[in-house]
Amino acid sequence: MQPSTWHPHLWHPTTQVAHAPVPLKVLQAHGATLQLADGRQLIDAISSWWVTLHGHAEPTIAAAIAAQAQQLEQVIFANFSHEPAESLADRLSALSGLERLFFSDNGSTAVEVALKIAWQWWRNRGEARHRLIAFEGAYHGDTVGAMAVGARSIFTAPFEPLLFDVARVPWPHTCWHDEGVEEREAAALAELEQALQTPSAAVILEPLIQGASGMAMVRPPFLRAVQERVRAAGSLLIADEVMTGFGRTGSLFACEQAGLRPDLMALSKGLTGGFLPMGVTLASERLYQGFISDDPTATFFHGHSFTANPLGCAAALASLDRLEADPERYTHFEARHRPHLELLSHHPLVRRPRCLGTVAAFEVAVDQPGYLNAVGRRIQHLCLERGVYLRPLGNVVYLLPPLCLSDAQLERCYAAIGAALEASPG
Ligand SMILES: *Cc1c(COP(=O)(O)O)cnc(C)c1O
Repeated sequence: MQPSTWHPHLWHPTTQVAHAPVPLKVLQAHGATLQLADGRQLIDAISSWWVTLHGHAEPTIAAAIAAQAQQLEQVIFANFSHEPAESLADRLSALSGLERLFFSDNGSTAVEVALKIAWQWWRNRGEARHRLIAFEGAYHGDTVGAMAVGARSIFTAPFEPLLFDVARVPWPHTCWHDEGVEEREAAALAELEQALQTPSAAVILEPLIQGASGMAMVRPPFLRAVQERVRAAGSLLIADEVMTGFGRTGSLFACEQAGLRPDLMALSKGLTGGFLPMGVTLASERLYQGFISDDPTATFFHGHSFTANPLGCAAALASLDRLEADPERYTHFEARHRPHLELLSHHPLVRRPRCLGTVAAFEVAVDQPGYLNAVGRRIQHLCLERGVYLRPLGNVVYLLPPLCLSDAQLERCYAAIGAALEASPG
């Protein structure tokens, strides 16, 4: 049975125990469904924090991990290499157009590695480029360097003195029937040009969708214009595809659709299909060559214990196979969202509807928008009663389901949201 008190020895992430409901105990999960210890079933409409790509317990990935575990579970990746890592590097560099793959173990470290490579590359060249440029609303992870490039918020406030300074440019996010978007894009580009006047090491962005700040979507032409300016200023472009990678936005990578050719790309979340923690940072050959030298201080002295974990590599390879076997599952997901979101968009509480690939989002009309607004928690509660698990970001409600979600399950998600809005959460 479901324990109704907090476990005496656990500490849950981003959870204020004084107010949060006691965590629900999960027994097992298959496809889009979580099976709870109390007998209930829930649709996991946010892919368990955006990681479960195909569905829970995807059989081909489970089998690949089991087989790899019998063969080679782990080996130190300095002095050694192995087939799963080599195959994954071959495939991801062919798919991304970036020749070199560096392994770490989550999205934050994939970003940290990208920042450190960019920073040290300039240092190795003997050029003083100390400025990093990031976007308002950005989220790049919870480690200290990743927090520094992310937007300042209640998440980062206690650590303010630890966070290095970055230049910040507006993110002209848009929605359906958005009229002022061109002007906001032009204003953001003008600020970017201004920031790039100072020689900068790199510009980091989440291509097409800023996830954690509330599924804030920008148009591809804006990103292409950003790229032009970054190139013209001789700076580097870092694409944080930790959330957007592996079909989330309707193309394999968001960069593809946006026409971006970044110098560095961070991947994690969907990389292993959501089975195992792994991060990778892809870098261009040009950057890689900048670390080859007789001078030992030019070395990239960075490494994690579980670098290139073979089980993670095997899961990632199986996940790529699964994606490639059936690309319509991600290329056509947006068409499945659209009619539902269209209907919902007429509800008087629904503002700024938007949709891209597997991600659909809107804002609930409230007096004080933001992460602490309680409307999201009320909607979460109301949807749970209807068997749908959501985790709104303040007053932003979104769906980001696994690719296996059936039409009937998608309909249940929208029905639950519709009913929650009717229950007048405002
Ligand atoms: C989740 C996320 C991260 C951090 O990844 P973790 O695995 O949670 O450390 C970084 N960047 C983006 C865009 C993310 O969505």
